[in-house]
Amino acid sequence: MAEKSIDIKGLTKKYGEHIAVNNLNLTIEKGEIFGLLGPNGAGKSTTILMILGLTEVDSGSVNVCGIDSSRYPLEVKRKVGYLPEDVGFYNDYTGLQNLMYVARLNDIPQEEAKKAALEILQEVGLEDVKDSKVASYSRGMRQRLGLADVLIKNPEVIILDEPTLGLDPEGVKKFLQLIVRLSRKKGITVLFSSHHLHQIQQVCDRVGIFVKGKMLAEGKISSLAQQLFSKNAFTLEGGISTLTEDVEPPLPLKEMVQKMKAIPEVANVELGDNGFVVESNKDVSADLSRLVVKSGYGLNFLRKKEYGLDDIYYQYFQEDKNR
Ligand code: ADP
Ligand code: MG
Repeated sequence: MAEKSIDIKGLTKKYGEHIAVNNLNLTIEKGEIFGLLGPNGAGKSTTILMILGLTEVDSGSVNVCGIDSSRYPLEVKRKVGYLPEDVGFYNDYTGLQNLMYVARLNDIPQEEAKKAALEILQEVGLEDVKDSKVASYSRGMRQRLGLADVLIKNPEVIILDEPTLGLDPEGVKKFLQLIVRLSRKKGITVLFSSHHLHQIQQVCDRVGIFVKGKMLAEGKISSLAQQLFSKNAFTLEGGISTLTEDVEPPLPLKEMVQKMKAIPEVANVELGDNGFVVESNKDVSADLSRLVVKSGYGLNFLRKKEYGLDDIYYQYFQEDKNR
């Protein structure tokens, strides 16, 4: 059985009457890159703080590398590198000095720390600016230094809370590639929180869609749409025309629609100018095409619309589109 890096059971957190995280169950395996995807206010940061043992849990449990976070937060802190939404640095220190400072806080011997720091600065692409003051760093450079801060602890698990906020598209791309590379190279488990579906899609092995404190669906991106839209997962669009050949007059359209509706799996039928749209919980293409032809019409096309990422995006994340 695969080793569990993060194991969450029935996790709940309330702020007064407001339930920020509602009975969350989640397991993340060692070496996995998991995407916690949800719009602003979904409860992502609250969940992360509970994983780290930094905020009290109302009910349920969190284990990180087998350690109970609420009982042994300091032990968990040793295993986990956490990049918060806003990382603070000493602006008058250089990148290298900031890193050495973090190493000291984590009781890493100076000599060893220096060697590791130089190596990590190279890995995150800050080698050339390691002796410049952090005040002169761009947002992207600061985020990469934040990642270096996390890595110097040699963590088993990395938790990144919306790490790409404020980065330009090129910066986002580089940052995401860096995370994947590091995780694969060192076998680090990554929990990546974001409200950007397309970023999560680029890097994560598995994704959880988290909305209003609840996990709505979880799995590989390819299976999410199926889970979320399973009720009427199939939409079929058909184009029809009347035939000019010497055939019998066709069945009135209304009657054909009635027959379509009579197919048990069909939930809804709408008629348009030159065709129809059928929603169903099974692929009924074969039944529809035969019905159209038997009704005396020509079937110009019949296409299946499969729900995908964009549909998830529009349903759950549209509110963020204009931000
Ligand atoms: P996300 O990180 O997904 O944007 P958060 O975990 O920050 O979501 O917030 C989840 C909900 O809990 C929000 O409605 C937020 O207003 C509320 N919340 C977060 N932190 C606190 C707090 N310290 N006190 C009261 N309410 C909070
Ligand atoms: Mg947040």
